[in-house]
Amino acid sequence: MRFRTLDDIDLAGRRVLVRVDLNVPVENGVVTDTTRIARILPTLRDIEAKGGMPVLLSHFGRPKGQEVPAMSLAQVLPALQEAVGRPVAFCPETDPEAVRARTLALKPGEILLLENTRFYPGEEKNDPALARSFASWGDVFCNDAFSAAHRAHASIVGVAQILPACAGRLMEAELRALEAALEDPARPLVAVVGGAKVSTKLALLGNLIGRVDRLVIGGGMANTFLAAQGVDVGRSLCEHDLADTAREIMAQAAARGCELLLPVDAVVAEELRPHARAQVVDIGHVPRDMMILDAGPRSVVAIERAFEAARTLVWNGPLGAFEVEPFNAATDAAALKAASLTEAGRLVSVAGGGDTVAALNRSGAAARFSYVSTAGGAFLEWLEGKTLPGVAVLMQQG
Ligand code: ADP
Ligand code: MG
Repeated sequence: MRFRTLDDIDLAGRRVLVRVDLNVPVENGVVTDTTRIARILPTLRDIEAKGGMPVLLSHFGRPKGQEVPAMSLAQVLPALQEAVGRPVAFCPETDPEAVRARTLALKPGEILLLENTRFYPGEEKNDPALARSFASWGDVFCNDAFSAAHRAHASIVGVAQILPACAGRLMEAELRALEAALEDPARPLVAVVGGAKVSTKLALLGNLIGRVDRLVIGGGMANTFLAAQGVDVGRSLCEHDLADTAREIMAQAAARGCELLLPVDAVVAEELRPHARAQVVDIGHVPRDMMILDAGPRSVVAIERAFEAARTLVWNGPLGAFEVEPFNAATDAAALKAASLTEAGRLVSVAGGGDTVAALNRSGAAARFSYVSTAGGAFLEWLEGKTLPGVAVLMQQG
Protein backbone atom coordinates (compact mmCIF):
# COMPACT_ATOMS: atom_id res chain seq x y z
CA MET A 1 0.00 0.00 0.00
CA ARG A 2 1.51 3.28 -1.07
CA PHE A 3 0.27 6.67 0.09
CA ARG A 4 1.89 9.90 1.14
CA THR A 5 2.25 10.85 4.80
CA LEU A 6 3.02 14.08 6.64
CA ASP A 7 6.70 13.32 5.99
CA ASP A 8 6.31 13.53 2.21
CA ILE A 9 4.84 17.02 1.76
CA ASP A 10 6.38 20.37 2.68
CA LEU A 11 4.16 21.90 5.36
CA ALA A 12 6.20 24.92 6.42
CA GLY A 13 4.05 28.06 6.56
CA ARG A 14 1.14 26.24 4.93
CA ARG A 15 -2.47 25.78 5.97
CA VAL A 16 -2.97 22.04 6.46
CA LEU A 17 -6.63 21.13 6.08
CA VAL A 18 -7.02 18.06 8.30
CA ARG A 19 -10.10 15.82 7.99
CA VAL A 20 -10.59 14.40 11.47
CA ASP A 21 -13.39 12.47 13.13
CA LEU A 22 -14.72 14.57 15.99
CA ASN A 23 -18.06 12.77 15.91
CA VAL A 24 -17.70 12.00 19.62
CA PRO A 25 -20.47 11.15 22.07
CA VAL A 26 -21.95 14.27 23.71
CA GLU A 27 -24.48 14.38 26.55
CA ASN A 28 -26.01 17.67 27.65
CA GLY A 29 -23.40 19.57 25.68
CA VAL A 30 -20.47 17.73 27.28
CA VAL A 31 -18.18 15.25 25.51
CA THR A 32 -18.42 11.93 27.38
CA ASP A 33 -15.69 9.97 25.57
CA THR A 34 -12.54 11.71 24.33
CA THR A 35 -10.86 8.67 22.74
CA ARG A 36 -11.24 10.00 19.20
CA ILE A 37 -9.91 13.42 20.18
CA ALA A 38 -6.84 11.93 21.85
CA ARG A 39 -6.08 9.90 18.73
CA ILE A 40 -5.63 12.95 16.46
CA LEU A 41 -3.05 14.61 18.72
CA PRO A 42 0.03 13.01 17.07
CA THR A 43 -1.06 14.46 13.72
CA LEU A 44 -1.58 17.96 15.13
CA ARG A 45 1.77 17.79 16.93
CA ASP A 46 3.64 16.71 13.80
CA ILE A 47 1.98 19.29 11.54
CA GLU A 48 2.98 22.03 13.96
CA ALA A 49 6.49 20.63 14.35
CA LYS A 50 6.86 20.95 10.57
CA GLY A 51 5.65 24.55 10.64
CA GLY A 52 2.14 23.90 9.32
CA MET A 53 -1.09 25.46 10.58
CA PRO A 54 -3.84 22.89 11.20
CA VAL A 55 -7.36 23.69 9.96
CA LEU A 56 -9.70 20.99 11.29
CA LEU A 57 -12.64 19.68 9.31
CA SER A 58 -15.08 17.10 10.73
CA HIS A 59 -18.64 15.86 10.55
CA PHE A 60 -20.81 15.63 13.64
CA GLY A 61 -24.15 13.83 13.85
CA ARG A 62 -26.54 13.76 10.91
CA PRO A 63 -27.80 17.28 10.22
CA LYS A 64 -28.36 16.31 6.55
CA GLY A 65 -27.24 19.52 4.92
CA GLN A 66 -28.97 21.84 7.40
CA GLU A 67 -27.37 24.16 9.95
CA VAL A 68 -28.66 22.48 13.09
CA PRO A 69 -27.35 24.36 16.18
CA ALA A 70 -27.56 21.21 18.33
CA MET A 71 -25.02 19.62 15.98
CA SER A 72 -22.51 22.46 16.02
CA LEU A 73 -18.90 21.44 16.57
CA ALA A 74 -18.70 24.33 19.04
CA GLN A 75 -19.70 21.87 21.75
CA VAL A 76 -16.62 19.74 21.06
CA LEU A 77 -14.28 22.75 21.34
CA PRO A 78 -13.73 22.64 25.14
CA ALA A 79 -12.74 18.96 25.06
CA LEU A 80 -10.50 19.59 22.05
CA GLN A 81 -8.76 22.51 23.79
CA GLU A 82 -8.24 20.43 26.90
CA ALA A 83 -6.67 17.62 24.86
CA VAL A 84 -4.44 19.99 22.89
CA GLY A 85 -3.53 21.86 26.08
CA ARG A 86 -4.12 25.37 24.75
CA PRO A 87 -6.77 27.49 23.04
CA VAL A 88 -8.10 26.38 19.66
CA ALA A 89 -9.93 28.93 17.50
CA PHE A 90 -13.41 28.10 16.25
CA CYS A 91 -14.94 29.44 13.05
CA PRO A 92 -18.75 29.39 13.28
CA GLU A 93 -19.11 30.82 9.75
CA THR A 94 -20.25 28.57 6.92
CA ASP A 95 -19.99 31.09 4.10
CA PRO A 96 -17.06 29.68 2.06
CA GLU A 97 -15.49 33.11 1.40
CA ALA A 98 -15.66 34.05 5.08
CA VAL A 99 -14.11 30.74 6.09
CA ARG A 100 -11.39 31.21 3.49
CA ALA A 101 -10.57 34.68 4.86
CA ARG A 102 -10.37 33.22 8.38
CA THR A 103 -7.92 30.49 7.27
CA LEU A 104 -5.76 33.01 5.39
CA ALA A 105 -5.41 35.05 8.60
CA LEU A 106 -4.02 32.05 10.52
CA LYS A 107 -0.63 32.51 12.17
CA PRO A 108 1.93 29.86 13.12
CA GLY A 109 1.00 28.30 16.46
CA GLU A 110 -2.72 28.61 15.84
CA ILE A 111 -5.18 25.78 15.29
CA LEU A 112 -8.56 26.46 13.70
CA LEU A 113 -11.64 24.25 14.04
CA LEU A 114 -14.26 24.69 11.32
CA GLU A 115 -18.00 24.03 11.55
CA ASN A 116 -19.68 20.65 10.84
CA THR A 117 -19.06 19.50 7.24
CA ARG A 118 -22.56 18.00 7.13
CA PHE A 119 -24.09 21.49 7.49
CA TYR A 120 -23.30 21.79 3.76
CA PRO A 121 -25.84 20.11 1.45
CA GLY A 122 -23.03 19.09 -0.94
CA GLU A 123 -20.97 17.14 1.61
CA GLU A 124 -22.64 13.74 1.41
CA LYS A 125 -23.10 14.08 -2.37
CA ASN A 126 -19.38 14.74 -2.90
CA ASP A 127 -20.39 17.93 -4.72
CA PRO A 128 -17.42 19.26 -6.76
CA ALA A 129 -18.24 22.92 -5.99
CA LEU A 130 -18.17 22.23 -2.25
CA ALA A 131 -14.93 20.26 -2.66
CA ARG A 132 -13.43 23.35 -4.34
CA SER A 133 -14.58 25.52 -1.42
CA PHE A 134 -13.01 23.11 1.07
CA ALA A 135 -9.82 23.10 -1.02
CA SER A 136 -9.65 26.90 -0.84
CA TRP A 137 -9.35 26.65 2.96
CA GLY A 138 -6.00 24.87 2.92
CA ASP A 139 -2.79 24.47 0.93
CA VAL A 140 -2.39 20.78 1.75
CA PHE A 141 -5.01 18.14 2.64
CA CYS A 142 -4.39 15.55 5.34
CA ASN A 143 -6.92 12.81 6.00
CA ASP A 144 -6.76 11.51 9.56
CA ALA A 145 -10.29 10.10 9.70
CA PHE A 146 -10.01 6.43 8.76
CA SER A 147 -13.35 5.92 10.52
CA ALA A 148 -15.02 8.06 7.83
CA ALA A 149 -12.99 6.71 4.89
CA HIS A 150 -15.81 4.42 3.72
CA ARG A 151 -17.84 7.53 2.79
CA ALA A 152 -17.36 9.15 -0.62
CA HIS A 153 -18.02 12.65 0.73
CA ALA A 154 -16.64 16.01 -0.40
CA SER A 155 -14.45 16.45 2.70
CA ILE A 156 -12.99 12.96 2.23
CA VAL A 157 -12.76 12.31 -1.51
CA GLY A 158 -13.50 15.50 -3.49
CA VAL A 159 -11.05 17.74 -1.65
CA ALA A 160 -8.31 15.07 -1.81
CA GLN A 161 -8.53 15.17 -5.61
CA ILE A 162 -7.78 18.89 -5.66
CA LEU A 163 -5.10 19.53 -3.02
CA PRO A 164 -1.84 17.63 -2.48
CA ALA A 165 -3.12 14.92 -0.12
CA CYS A 166 -1.57 12.72 2.53
CA ALA A 167 -2.53 10.43 5.41
CA GLY A 168 -2.36 11.67 8.99
CA ARG A 169 -0.73 9.61 11.75
CA LEU A 170 -3.91 7.86 12.88
CA MET A 171 -4.86 7.00 9.29
CA GLU A 172 -1.32 5.73 8.77
CA ALA A 173 -1.48 3.54 11.89
CA GLU A 174 -4.87 2.09 10.89
CA LEU A 175 -3.70 1.30 7.36
CA ARG A 176 -0.44 -0.27 8.49
CA ALA A 177 -2.25 -2.40 11.08
CA LEU A 178 -4.85 -3.59 8.59
CA GLU A 179 -2.16 -4.30 6.02
CA ALA A 180 -0.23 -6.39 8.53
CA ALA A 181 -3.40 -8.26 9.43
CA LEU A 182 -4.97 -8.98 6.08
CA GLU A 183 -2.91 -7.90 3.06
CA ASP A 184 0.41 -9.46 3.93
CA PRO A 185 0.01 -11.29 7.25
CA ALA A 186 2.42 -13.61 8.97
CA ARG A 187 0.75 -17.04 8.87
CA PRO A 188 -1.07 -18.94 10.17
CA LEU A 189 -3.73 -16.24 10.18
CA VAL A 190 -6.73 -16.85 12.41
CA ALA A 191 -9.89 -14.75 12.54
CA VAL A 192 -12.59 -14.61 15.17
CA VAL A 193 -16.01 -13.58 13.95
CA GLY A 194 -18.61 -13.36 16.67
CA GLY A 195 -21.48 -11.13 17.62
CA ALA A 196 -25.17 -11.44 17.32
CA LYS A 197 -26.19 -12.24 13.77
CA VAL A 198 -24.90 -13.92 10.62
CA SER A 199 -27.07 -11.63 8.49
CA THR A 200 -25.02 -8.53 9.40
CA LYS A 201 -21.71 -10.26 8.64
CA LEU A 202 -22.24 -12.27 5.46
CA ALA A 203 -19.87 -10.18 3.33
CA LEU A 204 -17.28 -10.27 6.08
CA LEU A 205 -17.44 -14.06 6.43
CA GLY A 206 -17.25 -14.45 2.65
CA ASN A 207 -14.09 -12.35 2.39
CA LEU A 208 -12.33 -13.83 5.42
CA ILE A 209 -12.87 -17.40 4.29
CA GLY A 210 -10.72 -16.70 1.23
CA ARG A 211 -7.93 -15.15 3.30
CA VAL A 212 -7.58 -16.80 6.69
CA ASP A 213 -6.26 -20.23 7.62
CA ARG A 214 -8.68 -20.73 10.50
CA LEU A 215 -11.96 -19.03 11.29
CA VAL A 216 -13.42 -19.13 14.79
CA ILE A 217 -17.16 -18.58 14.66
CA GLY A 218 -18.62 -17.47 17.98
CA GLY A 219 -21.42 -15.56 19.63
CA GLY A 220 -25.02 -15.76 18.53
CA MET A 221 -24.02 -16.32 14.93
CA ALA A 222 -22.46 -19.69 15.82
CA ASN A 223 -25.98 -20.85 16.74
CA THR A 224 -27.12 -20.35 13.16
CA PHE A 225 -24.24 -22.53 11.92
CA LEU A 226 -24.95 -25.21 14.53
CA ALA A 227 -28.66 -25.25 13.69
CA ALA A 228 -27.78 -25.56 10.00
CA GLN A 229 -25.91 -28.75 10.91
CA GLY A 230 -29.05 -30.10 12.55
CA VAL A 231 -28.13 -29.25 16.15
CA ASP A 232 -30.97 -28.25 18.48
CA VAL A 233 -30.09 -24.83 19.91
CA GLY A 234 -33.20 -24.49 22.10
CA ARG A 235 -34.37 -20.90 22.54
CA SER A 236 -31.00 -19.40 21.49
CA LEU A 237 -30.74 -16.41 19.21
CA CYS A 238 -30.65 -18.11 15.80
CA GLU A 239 -31.44 -17.15 12.22
CA HIS A 240 -33.09 -20.36 11.06
CA ASP A 241 -33.89 -18.82 7.67
CA LEU A 242 -30.15 -18.56 6.99
CA ALA A 243 -29.50 -22.31 7.29
CA ASP A 244 -28.79 -22.68 3.55
CA THR A 245 -26.45 -19.69 3.61
CA ALA A 246 -24.59 -21.10 6.61
CA ARG A 247 -24.20 -24.48 4.86
CA GLU A 248 -22.91 -22.71 1.77
CA ILE A 249 -20.32 -20.81 3.83
CA MET A 250 -19.20 -24.09 5.42
CA ALA A 251 -18.85 -25.70 1.97
CA GLN A 252 -16.88 -22.72 0.64
CA ALA A 253 -14.57 -22.81 3.66
CA ALA A 254 -13.89 -26.50 3.07
CA ALA A 255 -13.21 -25.87 -0.63
CA ARG A 256 -10.78 -23.04 0.12
CA GLY A 257 -8.87 -24.81 2.86
CA CYS A 258 -10.13 -22.60 5.66
CA GLU A 259 -10.72 -24.53 8.86
CA LEU A 260 -13.87 -23.49 10.73
CA LEU A 261 -13.97 -23.69 14.51
CA LEU A 262 -17.46 -23.89 15.94
CA PRO A 263 -18.23 -24.16 19.67
CA VAL A 264 -18.22 -27.67 21.17
CA ASP A 265 -19.86 -26.61 24.42
CA ALA A 266 -21.84 -23.64 25.68
CA VAL A 267 -22.96 -21.70 28.72
CA VAL A 268 -26.75 -21.76 28.77
CA ALA A 269 -29.41 -20.08 30.89
CA GLU A 270 -33.16 -19.59 30.85
CA GLU A 271 -32.85 -15.86 30.41
CA LEU A 272 -30.35 -13.13 29.66
CA ARG A 273 -30.05 -11.25 32.95
CA PRO A 274 -27.15 -10.58 35.33
CA HIS A 275 -26.10 -13.66 37.29
CA ALA A 276 -28.87 -15.80 35.83
CA ARG A 277 -28.52 -19.45 36.82
CA ALA A 278 -26.12 -20.67 34.16
CA GLN A 279 -24.80 -24.12 33.32
CA VAL A 280 -22.33 -25.62 30.89
CA VAL A 281 -23.58 -28.18 28.38
CA ASP A 282 -22.06 -29.87 25.37
CA ILE A 283 -23.34 -28.77 21.98
CA GLY A 284 -26.06 -31.26 21.11
CA HIS A 285 -27.39 -31.20 24.70
CA VAL A 286 -28.83 -27.69 24.89
CA PRO A 287 -32.10 -27.93 26.87
CA ARG A 288 -35.17 -26.94 24.85
CA ASP A 289 -36.13 -24.05 27.17
CA MET A 290 -32.65 -22.55 27.43
CA MET A 291 -30.45 -20.16 25.44
CA ILE A 292 -26.78 -20.33 24.51
CA LEU A 293 -25.30 -17.12 25.91
CA ASP A 294 -21.57 -17.81 25.87
CA ALA A 295 -18.98 -20.29 24.62
CA GLY A 296 -18.15 -23.05 27.09
CA PRO A 297 -14.74 -23.82 28.64
CA ARG A 298 -13.79 -26.57 26.18
CA SER A 299 -14.52 -24.22 23.29
CA VAL A 300 -12.34 -21.58 24.92
CA VAL A 301 -9.45 -24.05 25.20
CA ALA A 302 -9.81 -24.84 21.48
CA ILE A 303 -9.75 -21.12 20.65
CA GLU A 304 -6.70 -20.57 22.85
CA ARG A 305 -4.90 -23.42 21.05
CA ALA A 306 -5.77 -21.83 17.70
CA PHE A 307 -4.30 -18.53 18.95
CA GLU A 308 -1.14 -20.30 20.13
CA ALA A 309 -0.65 -21.85 16.70
CA ALA A 310 -1.28 -18.57 14.88
CA ARG A 311 1.01 -15.65 14.14
CA THR A 312 -1.73 -13.16 13.21
CA LEU A 313 -5.21 -12.66 14.66
CA VAL A 314 -8.08 -10.55 13.34
CA TRP A 315 -11.05 -10.25 15.69
CA ASN A 316 -14.53 -8.86 15.21
CA GLY A 317 -17.47 -9.76 17.40
CA PRO A 318 -17.70 -11.04 20.99
CA LEU A 319 -18.00 -14.77 21.77
CA GLY A 320 -21.00 -14.28 24.05
CA ALA A 321 -23.49 -11.78 25.45
CA PHE A 322 -20.56 -10.06 27.19
CA GLU A 323 -22.57 -7.08 28.50
CA VAL A 324 -24.21 -9.36 31.08
CA GLU A 325 -22.17 -11.32 33.64
CA PRO A 326 -21.16 -14.12 33.61
CA PHE A 327 -21.58 -14.33 29.82
CA ASN A 328 -18.42 -12.25 29.32
CA ALA A 329 -16.23 -15.16 30.49
CA ALA A 330 -15.28 -16.71 27.13
CA THR A 331 -14.67 -13.36 25.43
CA ASP A 332 -12.51 -12.21 28.35
CA ALA A 333 -10.49 -15.43 28.55
CA ALA A 334 -9.80 -15.53 24.81
CA ALA A 335 -8.98 -11.81 24.71
CA LEU A 336 -6.55 -12.07 27.60
CA LYS A 337 -4.89 -15.07 25.93
CA ALA A 338 -4.45 -13.06 22.72
CA ALA A 339 -3.09 -10.15 24.76
CA SER A 340 -0.42 -12.23 26.47
CA LEU A 341 0.65 -13.92 23.22
CA THR A 342 0.92 -10.42 21.72
CA GLU A 343 3.06 -9.21 24.61
CA ALA A 344 5.28 -12.26 24.24
CA GLY A 345 5.89 -11.23 20.62
CA ARG A 346 4.22 -14.38 19.30
CA LEU A 347 1.10 -12.84 17.77
CA VAL A 348 0.05 -9.74 15.83
CA SER A 349 -3.47 -9.02 17.08
CA VAL A 350 -5.87 -6.60 15.41
CA ALA A 351 -9.45 -6.05 16.56
CA GLY A 352 -12.33 -3.72 15.76
CA GLY A 353 -16.09 -3.24 15.84
CA GLY A 354 -18.21 -1.19 18.22
CA ASP A 355 -19.12 -3.96 20.65
CA THR A 356 -15.80 -5.74 20.21
CA VAL A 357 -13.89 -2.67 21.37
CA ALA A 358 -16.25 -2.31 24.35
CA ALA A 359 -15.71 -5.98 25.25
CA LEU A 360 -11.91 -5.74 24.94
CA ASN A 361 -11.85 -2.57 27.01
CA ARG A 362 -13.95 -4.21 29.68
CA SER A 363 -11.63 -7.22 29.91
CA GLY A 364 -8.55 -5.01 30.07
CA ALA A 365 -7.10 -6.70 26.97
CA ALA A 366 -7.53 -3.79 24.54
CA ALA A 367 -4.36 -1.89 25.43
CA ARG A 368 -2.34 -5.12 25.10
CA PHE A 369 -3.46 -5.91 21.53
CA SER A 370 -1.21 -4.85 18.64
CA TYR A 371 -3.96 -2.60 17.34
CA VAL A 372 -7.57 -1.86 18.21
CA SER A 373 -9.41 0.08 15.55
CA THR A 374 -11.87 2.72 16.69
CA ALA A 375 -13.29 2.93 13.19
CA GLY A 376 -16.45 0.79 13.41
CA GLY A 377 -18.10 0.79 9.98
CA ALA A 378 -14.92 1.52 8.01
CA PHE A 379 -13.10 -1.32 9.79
CA LEU A 380 -15.92 -3.74 8.95
CA GLU A 381 -15.96 -2.65 5.30
CA TRP A 382 -12.22 -3.23 5.15
CA LEU A 383 -12.72 -6.75 6.55
CA GLU A 384 -15.35 -7.27 3.88
CA GLY A 385 -12.64 -6.62 1.29
CA LYS A 386 -14.19 -3.39 0.04
CA THR A 387 -12.13 -0.52 -1.31
CA LEU A 388 -12.63 2.51 0.93
CA PRO A 389 -13.03 5.64 -1.24
CA GLY A 390 -11.16 7.85 1.23
CA VAL A 391 -8.18 5.47 1.18
CA ALA A 392 -8.27 4.86 -2.58
CA VAL A 393 -7.95 8.60 -3.29
CA LEU A 394 -4.85 8.80 -1.07
CA MET A 395 -3.27 5.87 -2.88
CA GLN A 396 -3.80 7.59 -6.25
CA GLN A 397 -1.44 10.27 -5.01
CA GLY A 398 0.95 7.76 -3.45
P1 ADP B 1 -19.48 -5.57 16.76
O1 ADP B 1 -20.24 -4.33 17.16
O2 ADP B 1 -18.17 -5.67 17.48
O3 ADP B 1 -19.33 -5.72 15.27
P2 ADP B 1 -21.87 -7.20 16.93
O4 ADP B 1 -22.69 -5.95 16.97
O5 ADP B 1 -21.93 -8.03 15.71
O6 ADP B 1 -20.33 -6.86 17.26
O7 ADP B 1 -22.29 -8.17 18.11
C1 ADP B 1 -22.32 -7.79 19.46
C2 ADP B 1 -23.54 -8.31 20.17
O8 ADP B 1 -23.68 -9.72 20.05
C3 ADP B 1 -23.47 -8.03 21.65
O9 ADP B 1 -24.53 -7.16 22.00
C4 ADP B 1 -23.63 -9.38 22.31
O10 ADP B 1 -24.46 -9.36 23.47
C5 ADP B 1 -24.31 -10.18 21.22
N1 ADP B 1 -24.14 -11.63 21.41
C6 ADP B 1 -23.00 -12.34 21.36
N2 ADP B 1 -23.25 -13.64 21.61
C7 ADP B 1 -24.57 -13.75 21.82
C8 ADP B 1 -25.44 -14.86 22.13
N3 ADP B 1 -24.98 -16.10 22.26
N4 ADP B 1 -26.76 -14.60 22.28
C9 ADP B 1 -27.21 -13.34 22.14
N5 ADP B 1 -26.46 -12.28 21.86
C10 ADP B 1 -25.15 -12.48 21.70
MG1 MG C 1 -22.34 -3.90 17.21
